[in-house]
Amino acid sequence: MMFLGLIVAGFAAYWVYNDAKGFGYDNGSAAMWALGTFLLLIVVLPLYLVIGRKPQYKRREEPTIDIEGTAVEDTMLCPMCGGKVRQDYNACPYCSHTLQPKCTQCGRDLEREWRTCPYCQTPTPGK
Ligand SMILES: [Zn+2]
Ligand SMILES: [Zn+2]
Repeated sequence: MMFLGLIVAGFAAYWVYNDAKGFGYDNGSAAMWALGTFLLLIVVLPLYLVIGRKPQYKRREEPTIDIEGTAVEDTMLCPMCGGKVRQDYNACPYCSHTLQPKCTQCGRDLEREWRTCPYCQTPTPGK
């Protein structure tokens, strides 16, 4: 990182040197401008790299963290693939395993533990 700063400072100094000569400065004066630029950059660049880049100025986290954080209470693991799914999902979005079984006969929602539909006594397909 320091090496990169030196390269940038070198290029800036080189540009200043040529630019100053273009404005009629002699070689010595142009070199002074270039040296000043170089010194300023090799002072300011490490200063920025050490002090300026503080962790709190890192880019903001992706909003997916928030979604997972708020939904953590009603999440569970898919019994088929182990993916994180919500309690109110009807099917696993990862493997399309049915999470909320419905009775094949009457179409009512069934609990996962039930072996028989309590409404029409049809055996549940899962177990
Ligand atoms: Zn799954
Ligand atoms: Zn039923």
